[in-house]
Amino acid sequence: MRSEAGLARQHTGISYIVATDHFHVSSLNEQAPHRLKLSAPHVIVLCGTLIALVMVGLCALVLYQARVDALDRARDTSRNLALLAERDIERNFELYELSLQAVVEGMQRPDVQALSPQLRNDVLFDRAASARDLGSLLVLNAKGDIVIDSGSLTPRPGNFADRRYFSVQREHPDTGLYISNPYTSRLRGGSPSIALSRRLSNADGSFAGVAMIAVNLEYFRNLFAGLSLGKHGAVSLISQDGVMIMRQPFDSHVIGRDISQADTFRRFRMAAEGSFSETSSIDGTRRLYYYRNFPTLPLIIMVAEAEGDIYAAWRRRAIIIGSSMGVLAAGFVVLSFVLAAQFRRRIRAESELKLLARTDGLTGLHNRRTLGEILDQEWRRARRTRGLFSLLFVDIDRFKAFNDAYGHQAGDDALAAVARCIGDNIRRPADTAARYGGEEFVVVLPDTPAEGAACIAEKIRVAISDLSIEHAGSEYGRVTASIGLASWRPEGDVEVSALIRAADEALYDAKARGRNRVMQASPA
Ligand code: GH3
Ligand code: MG
Ligand code: MG
Repeated sequence: MRSEAGLARQHTGISYIVATDHFHVSSLNEQAPHRLKLSAPHVIVLCGTLIALVMVGLCALVLYQARVDALDRARDTSRNLALLAERDIERNFELYELSLQAVVEGMQRPDVQALSPQLRNDVLFDRAASARDLGSLLVLNAKGDIVIDSGSLTPRPGNFADRRYFSVQREHPDTGLYISNPYTSRLRGGSPSIALSRRLSNADGSFAGVAMIAVNLEYFRNLFAGLSLGKHGAVSLISQDGVMIMRQPFDSHVIGRDISQADTFRRFRMAAEGSFSETSSIDGTRRLYYYRNFPTLPLIIMVAEAEGDIYAAWRRRAIIIGSSMGVLAAGFVVLSFVLAAQFRRRIRAESELKLLARTDGLTGLHNRRTLGEILDQEWRRARRTRGLFSLLFVDIDRFKAFNDAYGHQAGDDALAAVARCIGDNIRRPADTAARYGGEEFVVVLPDTPAEGAACIAEKIRVAISDLSIEHAGSEYGRVTASIGLASWRPEGDVEVSALIRAADEALYDAKARGRNRVMQASPA
């Protein structure tokens, strides 16, 4: 007798065959829905990731829109500030010009000239001349000497023939109102100023001098100081020929500087008003510039807000919302992976359960219930295709005696080994082997004629015998099996049970004729 260990090894072998090879052979029809179910976890992960992506995308869109809004708001604010400052400057300059106009007209009237200095000054200089940020209102003669001074009845000594506001009026009779670049006043202790001047002409049109009004740059400084523009913002008043008149934050070195060659300035001159973003070459700060050319004065006002200041509040909010959304989306993806894994585990458990329910525990072959299903299905198919249908009934010889002699465990091992032989000898996908019960097996061979089925049956019989499992109680001295074969073409309303019965009868015949042989049932 072969050792029990050997049988046990064979048994392990058969379990393996069942889990892979055999199941592939006989369960093709189950694989399609199986694969479909397996893709469900992928769908879960895909959906989870997609939803997370949509969430992140929407969040990004909203944040981007908020950023654009912040820039738009900043542009509006800059524009409003520039407009406010421009209106204030224009209104004041209009008053200064009217004052100058009054002086020019007064100087042409002999009756005014004839008045006492006190009265003449009262007539020439209205109350506006004493406004807070106004410097002197002067009349200079053709040589540039002060002849009439709003600040004193006897004019302060001084000659300003060297000033541009004087020479321009002398050389260009049609200048009209002239606005000078910043200069340091010689009459008022060096305070930075700009001057507005008008030409005085004699009756014959020749140059008679200028009337001028000095405006203290403090006026602009105070005006700009009240504007709030963030930590890194700036406001500048620039003459249209590119000289800096005032800048906030204030830096005395910048006043009077010629920036006409700067790229930013060139852009200020390209349109009446506009805005653009640019990185400052001075401090490397990126700013949003808004500029306006005054409609009536040769001046440009520029309001610049640092993008860092514009986006500060937005950035704080974006970090909080963005990171929360990121965490949420990542959580969503992780959750979908966890869910998918759980789903996959469940599917696997279910399919294992299903497999167990269909399989015989000891031999790994199909159990009797599954055999019933397969028989029904194949019998119906054979009826449709009018194909030949063969069936083997395998029964181990004198197995009761084997159990009695070698014990139940050895009997189980021998059963498993025989089952493996049967499984090994059917190769076609549609062929099926099942344990019918006890030590009896059924092999279903669809589309197989009797000769082919007999060939397979013989192979199985020989293989079982070749296992050489010792069986002292058998006339052959080893474990053998008898096989009954029935091969029918399903016709009319013949049931498959009739075929089984026929195979069983053939098996009985084989037993009667001495066992360890294949017998074929007579055709239906
Ligand atoms: P025959 O050659 O006429 O078939 O003789 P036999 O002894 O094989 O016939 P019988 O059907 O009377 O006996 C079947 C025996 O198979 C009964 C039982 O001891 C044994 N058997 C059935 N199922 C199992 C099983 O799962 N394990 C084991 N060890 N033995 C089984
Ligand atoms: Mg039996
Ligand atoms: Mg038997």
